[in-house]
Amino acid sequence: MILVAYKVRSTMLNKLLYMETFGCQMNVNDSERIVTMLADLGYAPTNDPAASDMILLNTCSVRGGAEEKVYRRLANLRIYKRDGKKQIIAVGGCVAQQEGEELLRKLPYLDLVIGTHNLHLLPEMVRGAERGERRSETTFIDNDQRLDLFPSIKGESRLSRFVTVMQGCDNFCSYCIVPFVRGREISRRSADILTEVRQLADDGVREVILLGQNVNSYGLKTESEPTFAELIRQVAEIDGIDRIRFTTSHPKDMSDELIACFGDVAKLSGQIHLPAQSGSDAVLKLMGRGYTRDSYLAKVHKIKTLRPDIVVTGDIIVGFPGETDADFEETLSLMEQVRYIDLFSFVYSPRPGTKAAELSDDLPRAVKMARLDRLMELQRRHTGEISQTYTGSVMSVLVEGEGKFPGQVSGKGEIGRIVNFPGDSSLIGSIVDVRIIKAYPNSFLGEL
Ligand code: SF4
Repeated sequence: MILVAYKVRSTMLNKLLYMETFGCQMNVNDSERIVTMLADLGYAPTNDPAASDMILLNTCSVRGGAEEKVYRRLANLRIYKRDGKKQIIAVGGCVAQQEGEELLRKLPYLDLVIGTHNLHLLPEMVRGAERGERRSETTFIDNDQRLDLFPSIKGESRLSRFVTVMQGCDNFCSYCIVPFVRGREISRRSADILTEVRQLADDGVREVILLGQNVNSYGLKTESEPTFAELIRQVAEIDGIDRIRFTTSHPKDMSDELIACFGDVAKLSGQIHLPAQSGSDAVLKLMGRGYTRDSYLAKVHKIKTLRPDIVVTGDIIVGFPGETDADFEETLSLMEQVRYIDLFSFVYSPRPGTKAAELSDDLPRAVKMARLDRLMELQRRHTGEISQTYTGSVMSVLVEGEGKFPGQVSGKGEIGRIVNFPGDSSLIGSIVDVRIIKAYPNSFLGEL
């Protein structure tokens, strides 16, 4: 859970917004948009729910138990609305999309429910709530919507920004709820994306992270739009932008054209997130992932051939229904072959309405947890070993702010890892060479 306290440029901020954001980067990005939109209505972010005029939970439903968590959190937050205080309580994100009117029905103190496709309607809903109009819910999925309805973020200039290029997903992996709560894939117009990136570059941003649920299928549905590889090349031509990252990519859509970018687009990041989910063909088939273990490994190999110093991060689901000991061993052996620098791993939990939720799942929880422990142990070893290889090397670091300790500054190296090193704030905003003197599990210590 992330407390949002972005700074916004507005001179008329006379109300306070308390917001909690759960889940993925798409939600964090949506929260930034919400802050920007509500600033136009006079709302400034606060970390104090008691003092706020509006409380908004931006929710995620990817993991099991998400709905109960949201109900519990809302029950805790409602205490601030007692004593007749005029405070708006709202829920957005995937749980709002999924539960819809049910939330209003169950929670009499809730004022607004806003779906994942309807954020642009939020200001109007908030105005209505301020006028004391009836409680409202807007959760229609509009698969024809134009993503340019979403205002670009006007927040204070930072050095690294997310730029949404598409949203939704057509893949319907058997375990995943995203296509149901985020709708089908929609790509934003490339002209709008490039305008936004140029604007960000003018504001001093030096790194953009192109964002989408299935980012590498960008443009595939629209002939008039570039492919994702072409879009990356167009973004790379924008002066002032020195680094480009993207997330999240689906292995099946990692085309040769896109892989080639790692060979000749120098601004493209030295890190790629490529979620395998399992190393077993039988499990991948049940998951409906659309690739095999071999085709996944072949793509990783191609990328590493073009960019030998690239690091790979990934996602693995442990204990998927039907996963045998042999399947799990296949996953561990895939990890040995790829050698991820970081891995997001979790135990499978069924999401209602998905295909996988109908599969028989008789593997005891203790077995799943034991597998997760083994997997995490292996990953800790890989992370440690890979991190140590950087000791003594020189890394190019985009300095983004003060460091962890006084007298230090901090930034990201080409591989996306945090590097702290002694230096003063005059370095913030520059890209400097830093020698790595110590590797920690999630960061490096260096010297200029
Ligand atoms: S690609 Fe699969 S896991 Fe990823 S968002 Fe789409 S359905 Fe979910």
